[in-house]
Amino acid sequence: MKVAVVGTGYVGLVAGTCFADAGNEVVCVDIDKDKIDKLNSGEIPIYEPGLEEMLRRNVKQERLFFTTDIKAAVENNLIIIIAVGTPPDEDGSADLKHVLAVARDVGKYANGFKVVIDKSTVPVGTADKVKAEIKKHTEQEIAVVSNPEFLKEGAALEDFMKPDRVIIGTDNAEAEEIMRNLYAPFVRTGKPVIVMDIRSAELTKYASNAILATKISFMNEMANLCEKVGANIENVRRGMGSDRRIGPYFIFPGVGYGGSCFPKDVKAIIKTASEYGQDLKILRSVEEVNERQKTILMDKINSYFKNDLQGKTFTMWGLAFKPNTDDMREAPAIGMIRALVGQGAKIQAHDPEANKEAQWRFTDILDKELKLFNKRYDALENADALIIMTEWNAFREPDFYLIKETMKNAVIFDGRNLYNPERMKKLEIDYYSIGRP
Ligand code: NAD
Repeated sequence: MKVAVVGTGYVGLVAGTCFADAGNEVVCVDIDKDKIDKLNSGEIPIYEPGLEEMLRRNVKQERLFFTTDIKAAVENNLIIIIAVGTPPDEDGSADLKHVLAVARDVGKYANGFKVVIDKSTVPVGTADKVKAEIKKHTEQEIAVVSNPEFLKEGAALEDFMKPDRVIIGTDNAEAEEIMRNLYAPFVRTGKPVIVMDIRSAELTKYASNAILATKISFMNEMANLCEKVGANIENVRRGMGSDRRIGPYFIFPGVGYGGSCFPKDVKAIIKTASEYGQDLKILRSVEEVNERQKTILMDKINSYFKNDLQGKTFTMWGLAFKPNTDDMREAPAIGMIRALVGQGAKIQAHDPEANKEAQWRFTDILDKELKLFNKRYDALENADALIIMTEWNAFREPDFYLIKETMKNAVIFDGRNLYNPERMKKLEIDYYSIGRP
């Protein structure tokens, strides 16, 4: 099939590459000329494991193309996938300006029947708005389908190639058949393609992210309780997770959820509900707990250093909001860096992939209060403490003797529970983690 993917970010680039890999002819469109120029010269704008290799293969075999020419993309393709960003507006609702801009372009340039797929995460009712926007500009028959995306950054290719399920919201039989064909190569092991009405499909995405965020905040509250009552959250987690009704996934405590999806999607579903007169009490608490959790390590640091961080140097391992990505959107590390610097501290940070994003995020303090290091041990020189913010595999089994030797003090504040407290004790490292003695 001939597919145009509009918006070449984490979702669009992965979806486009995977659809091309399944044999389709795909053009990825973006308004960001710099991004498209880079892609056309063989440079991949994001870090996602496995993406580079798959992308190059499909470019070489002439199934995957990149352009800024939306007109040609709409004219030449039957399927148009909208994968642009839907960032939060000031009031928490999803900002649909990019989605509607694409709808306008589809309306302007449609030269026949098209299937327009909303893959961006959009509030209930957006498909109707997309339809209305397209209709303003064309008489052509256009089917608008909701097809939310569930991939996780860091494992995006695997998730896309082998999804747990594919959700299709449509009221058009022809579009349904086209969608089933498009996804057939990805569900060969029998994973379900669940076809439903458009509004339910739109809500399914928000409800899924909302329950995942809820699990995280719930476990963070339990971890904080563990500290108070002298229990160990890792034991509690294992005990809970072996119950099949609960399951072992997504119940790891930490320094709060971040990323480009959970924070904004929780906000957006709360806003949608409030527009319909419903107060989502659980989710408001989920947000509140998460905001609090993002500063939990600051409390531990302040208590250890008796609120005097002036002139202290902290090593930070991990900047990305989770491992295996270069994405720092809403990463807990951002607030931590600002809070530490606000109290007069200096930071020596290292992330295997996110240093580049940190450079533009922190231009005001870069190479002054914040120094970035390409190698993890280089960031330790003369530090008063090591702070772990992201659970990259490379941080799981470091040379603790070298850590002790290089740092001024042997202290670790671990926001991801990477190390064994008993072992730290034996190594004579002062060790503080989440929800453990
Ligand atoms: P992103 O910010 O990485 O990429 C969005 C891209 O769209 C950018 O390259 C931007 O230049 C481009 N764009 C904006 N307006 C455009 C227009 N009018 N025409 C063409 N291109 C345009 O965003 P993302 O992380 O890929 O997320 C995209 C959507 O998918 C969001 O709604 C998000 O909530 C959802 N989603 C994201 C993830 C994730 O893990 N990132 C997972 C599932 C769903």
